[in-house]
Amino acid sequence: MSLGREAQSHSSDPVGRIASALERLAVANEDIVKLAKADGDPPVIEVEPGPPFCPHCGRQDPTIVIHSGEGRGPMSEWFLDATCAHCEMRLFGIPQGWTMTAKFEDVQAHMKGGKTNAS
Ligand SMILES: [Zn+2]
Repeated sequence: MSLGREAQSHSSDPVGRIASALERLAVANEDIVKLAKADGDPPVIEVEPGPPFCPHCGRQDPTIVIHSGEGRGPMSEWFLDATCAHCEMRLFGIPQGWTMTAKFEDVQAHMKGGKTNAS
């Protein structure tokens, strides 16, 4: 972590503090993955729902290749089946909640960090 970012964590800027917290979380995730591998445990990590990360390499918000194909069934049973583009390991994501909307524009706004009409 650079001195510049360390200084940022002490600022009163909420965005800077959030960014700093996410960086610390990413480091913590990487440490958890290393510990799990050192103990010989399978890389199954249960944490409270939060920002997405790869359970193999610890990469925060990794680029993924999605395998979840088309299908039909209860939405509550849908899960993410993908491969991390950074370490090429397969990972799964389990939704812990949804923000529902009838408008694709709300999804686009959410991806850009904005508020949806549904929220
Ligand atoms: Zn990975």
